[in-house]
Amino acid sequence: MPVEALGDYDDSNIFARILRGEIPSKRVFENEWAIAFHDINPQAPVHVLVIPRGAYRSWADFSAKASDAEIAGFVRAVGSVARDLGLEDPGYRLLANAGINAHQEVPHLHVHLFGGKPLGPMLAR
Ligand code: AMP
Repeated sequence: MPVEALGDYDDSNIFARILRGEIPSKRVFENEWAIAFHDINPQAPVHVLVIPRGAYRSWADFSAKASDAEIAGFVRAVGSVARDLGLEDPGYRLLANAGINAHQEVPHLHVHLFGGKPLGPMLAR
């Protein structure tokens, strides 16, 4: 189900639990600012989620409240993961869903990183 409305951060969301180590994940990257792990229901041969360690619901929430160091750390992490997975040359797609219209399911900011095949048009028509 998509998140209902933007409100307070819900500390029990599944990515918060992954960050706390309460739920396993197949991690491909972690540092001070971010972690990245394989999506449990991949939509492409490579489907990795990159999330900041901080408690932010959406890109707007993150960009308004996070420190410059957190923002730089997260953005650099996304780029590192794409490079480390060998996606720079063949290409890849980044996607961040926010709120109801985008059907965001997990209310912790995450960037989907898709690759491993030609990805087709940007949005379903
Ligand atoms: P979104 O609709 O952008 O909120 O996407 C949430 C994504 O999280 C979906 O692609 C799910 O497959 C993925 N997901 C949900 N639970 C887990 C989990 N435990 N481990 C990895 N990915 C998950």
